[in-house]
Amino acid sequence: KLLSFRLEKESDAFKMGQSLPNQLYPDLTGMPMSLSPHLRFGSLSIRKFYWSLRFAYMQVHPNSPIPASITSQLIWREYFYCMSVNNPAYNRMKENPICLNIDWYDDEIKFQQWKMGQTGYPWIDACMRQLIQEGWIHQVCRHSTACFLTRGDLWIDWQKGLKVFDSYLLDADWSVCAGNWMWVSSSAFESVLQCTRCICPIRYGRRMDPRGDYVRRYVLELKDMPLQFLFEPWLAPQKVQQEANCIVGQDYPSPMVDHKIASSECKTRMDKIKQRSKDIPHIGPASEAEALSFMWVSMERRDHKMTVCKHNMDIAK
Ligand code: FAD
Ligand code: MG
Repeated sequence: KLLSFRLEKESDAFKMGQSLPNQLYPDLTGMPMSLSPHLRFGSLSIRKFYWSLRFAYMQVHPNSPIPASITSQLIWREYFYCMSVNNPAYNRMKENPICLNIDWYDDEIKFQQWKMGQTGYPWIDACMRQLIQEGWIHQVCRHSTACFLTRGDLWIDWQKGLKVFDSYLLDADWSVCAGNWMWVSSSAFESVLQCTRCICPIRYGRRMDPRGDYVRRYVLELKDMPLQFLFEPWLAPQKVQQEANCIVGQDYPSPMVDHKIASSECKTRMDKIKQRSKDIPHIGPASEAEALSFMWVSMERRDHKMTVCKHNMDIAK
């Protein structure tokens, strides 16, 4: 049932000429349509999901080639799996040949503030509180909180963040979780650390949660804060804070760092690391053919599978 529900959403997107509906329009307060815990525990076969997506596309656009983008997220999963093969140190910084050694801070107090959703940035706090309460958060929330902890703001070790995700996420997966943490923190998989730009916890939050419903659901202290100040409540005039029953610094924490300053310091550090690591190659598949070869599926076998898949569906009809 869950798979059919998900495939319906995908087909609707295909009809509108889109793909990855869950990414394009993240519905943070709706029912999650993610199947990631099922993929993690094997209660949904990754192959079934992959071929069903392709078949769903074929039904909507019978005469066009199937774009790789519709299954690209699944490929990332395989990619992180492949990259962890024969690397028992894949979830650590030390002795891990693909991970840069970065001199992260070891600040237990700041780390706890991040973990417990007490950073003073409502968007980040909402994400962390949902994680701890419900065991699942959307990709945009994972990306924001991981970036904030590491190269974005706090410069704290990604391995500490990984431990938190690993204990709370329903879909926690050894290869995928560590792979994403290394990627977000620019420790691996970056084309020479191109991505020195980081996520702004105010602007990005506003973009992802334009009506503020998500923040209000998880950060109850701010439930009466006007939308104008919801993502930066410390800017609300004293009178507005009083009316909203939320005095910043008393009922809800003041921001633990100044994002502008913190992120620019992080960027300077990253730039230095970038200078030092010029020769590190980008570790990623170059084309769909290469990605398929990683999965022991050649282009011919893929086309053959599609024919078999269509044949089976015809019989089923
Ligand atoms: P969709 O976008 O619909 O993707 C479909 C499937 O593709 C997912 O169910 C998942 O199996 C796979 N997938 C999607 N994005 C990624 C990705 N970036 N890397 C690898 N596979 C992906 N996903 C996990 O399954 N387990 C984890 O432990 C995990 N840890 C993460 C940690 C961090 C710091 C970040 C940034 C991402 C992490 N992800 C993890 C990846 C991603 O956030 C989730 O897979 C996704 O949010 C699940 O929602 P979905 O099924 O709707 O995703
Ligand atoms: Mg995703």
